[in-house]
Amino acid sequence: MTTQSHLERLNPEQRAAIETTEGPLLVLAGAGTGKTRVLTTRFAHILLSGKAKPWQILAVTFTNKAAREMRERISLLIGEPAEGLWLGTFHALCARMLRRHAEYVGLRSGFLILDTDDQLRLVKQVIEPWRIDVKRWPLPGLLGVIQRWKDRGLTPDRVTAAEDNGYADGHAQAIYAAYQTRLRELNACDFGDLMLHIVEILRTRPDVLEQYHRLFRYILVDEYQDTNTVQYLWLRLLARRNDAPSNICCVGDDDQSIYSWRGAEVENILRFEKDFPGAKIIRLERNYRSTAQILGAAAGLIAHNDGRLGKTLRPGREDAEGEPVQIVSIWDSDAEAREVCKRIEALRRDDHTLREIAILVRAGFQTRAFEERLVQFGIPYRIVGGLRFYERAEIRDALAYMRVLVNPVDDLAFERIVNVPKRGVGTAALQKLHAEARTARSGLAVAVENLLQSGAFRGKSQEKLTSLMQTFAQHRRVLEREGHIVAVNGLLEDSGYIEMWRTDNSPDAPGRLENLKELVRALADFGTLGEFLEHVALVMDAEGAAEEDRVSVMTLHGAKGLEFDTVFLPGWEEGVFPSQRTLDEGGDKGLEEERRLAYVGITRARHRAIILHAASRRIYANWQESMPSRFLDELPDEYVEREGETATRRERQDYSGFFRSSVFSDSQNSTMAPLIARKRRTPVHEDLISNTPQIGVGARVFHQKFGYGVVISADHGATEVAFEEAGTRRVMSSYLQTVSG
Ligand code: ATP
Ligand code: MG
Repeated sequence: MTTQSHLERLNPEQRAAIETTEGPLLVLAGAGTGKTRVLTTRFAHILLSGKAKPWQILAVTFTNKAAREMRERISLLIGEPAEGLWLGTFHALCARMLRRHAEYVGLRSGFLILDTDDQLRLVKQVIEPWRIDVKRWPLPGLLGVIQRWKDRGLTPDRVTAAEDNGYADGHAQAIYAAYQTRLRELNACDFGDLMLHIVEILRTRPDVLEQYHRLFRYILVDEYQDTNTVQYLWLRLLARRNDAPSNICCVGDDDQSIYSWRGAEVENILRFEKDFPGAKIIRLERNYRSTAQILGAAAGLIAHNDGRLGKTLRPGREDAEGEPVQIVSIWDSDAEAREVCKRIEALRRDDHTLREIAILVRAGFQTRAFEERLVQFGIPYRIVGGLRFYERAEIRDALAYMRVLVNPVDDLAFERIVNVPKRGVGTAALQKLHAEARTARSGLAVAVENLLQSGAFRGKSQEKLTSLMQTFAQHRRVLEREGHIVAVNGLLEDSGYIEMWRTDNSPDAPGRLENLKELVRALADFGTLGEFLEHVALVMDAEGAAEEDRVSVMTLHGAKGLEFDTVFLPGWEEGVFPSQRTLDEGGDKGLEEERRLAYVGITRARHRAIILHAASRRIYANWQESMPSRFLDELPDEYVEREGETATRRERQDYSGFFRSSVFSDSQNSTMAPLIARKRRTPVHEDLISNTPQIGVGARVFHQKFGYGVVISADHGATEVAFEEAGTRRVMSSYLQTVSG
């Protein structure tokens, strides 16, 4: 390999960005212009030209996956395994540094990194002297406040009154200090400390800073637009030096800044020239990833944002125009997943590899419908950067509640939920329970009843467990009388499970609540709870095959920096994308971030971008009309092709009549109606059932989800239908329309 071969096939601007190794450099460029490629090649170039040894370059990526990929590419470019590199995420790099200097912040190098559960336990001990009302100021919220201070590089003594938001009756700062002290005593730190501590060390120990100045000759940073303050401080400390120029190269795109909710400050980009006087700025304008049509659509969309730095993006691929971005309108959200799977099958038949296909969703709850369809179609998939729907903690908890509901002797399930939410059942109480179960040769539930009768639990737990057992008994009766949807919904409410998440202030709690709603929604596809649980077991089991070629399913946030031949973008509806939270908060700031997220989504595609939106989504057991996302209207007509039953918001009015007259419509139609409304006990479909004429055996029917079929048996609202495509199924007769012929 000649020294220069790694520079071939690069355009002049990219070359300049690689060869300008000395002095500060900012590469500001749109999606797919080769920013990451420039960084990787630059790394190799520095090595190959002998300017530095592998360990003298500090390279920061946004994810571990990106770090792995970069390491592989560097190995390829330099023709040998790349080892001993300082290449990784901010956190990984800081952890490594902190191990070397832990003593300067009062830790020993074998310090422990706590997970969220440990953090909660710890902060709970710490707050005791303040007698904080944790109902009013939940602990996860307190940890959130502390984390945000850490994101901003604020140690307890640096938090000023102006930064105290009054959380925990204004004691947050004092608690923060106590929490940090306690961590030190335990020789532990939390995730945020990894950055905070090392920044503190670099700030206060010139000798240590000097050591790193000597070590790192070059610094490379990807996705610079999403760095938060503490990360920025760290970079600035390491890069700014008196003895030599700052050889720092950051690449970023202000239009792809999508982590402001985690403290990222796009202003860091704007400040670059000030922080590093004499900084060069190079702009890359050719996009080598996507077709001209995809780029045109993405550019048209992002143009609706104000306050952009402004960049040009020109197609750089030689293989011409490509297909327009497709906007597919679908009747309902179930059909959406089916439509995507059908298209994936068609691509597969045409020899497209599944690895080159991605489904990118706005929110985690959306993956459920896709996972089930993918399993049904036999299409291997992987959930990237998260758990499969039915493996998520809150879903497993809820499933455990359901299992105990139908089967009181399901001990595994019972043990999972007996103390979730907290009912004072600790290890000792559990041991007592198991002992009682052994003596009585019964399940745990019976053991609880026995122990309750003999008053074996202490005050509060006695009360809480009694209530839990009553709740189960009550909802077993509800299950008989009003069906599984009402029963499960009521059980999750009355057991305090939903409430536990509602009062949880941690950033992932809203997502978990959405997942739980989605779970209740899924119940409506099944006649009984038993059928549903059996189905779940099957879906859960579907993995297994050591298939490498899989479709990727992930959130838009997780897709940053990645690319695929084909990208499906489902759920472009108001309230899903842009998210309901953004709409509720109002204002342009949140909306602009959602729009950037949409831009990130479209620009992941090389050849094909397919956007979908459904005209109705199931809410609880009903169908509810949904409005197409405003982003659909913002896509320029010349780059998109619209197909399907419904069209854009503009044309939408013409269709609303259908929904009003349809048997599928929800009389209490409102997007704001909370799905699992706290005291909603009305069996929602009863009114639908009574309004539905009895459909006789042999009648030809249409079902919104399963299509056409013939009724083969009918009783009490549940009807068995032989569907042409979907096979024989029991469905609610209220969802059937009779058709002639
Ligand atoms: P993002 O903003 O999404 O992170 P990026 O700017 O980092 O994108 P890359 O991922 O580095 O872009 O590059 C996009 C694609 O274009 C990659 O497949 C890369 O290999 C290819 N590419 C980059 N530069 C060139 C070039 N000069 N010639 C051909 N292909 C290129
Ligand atoms: Mg990139």
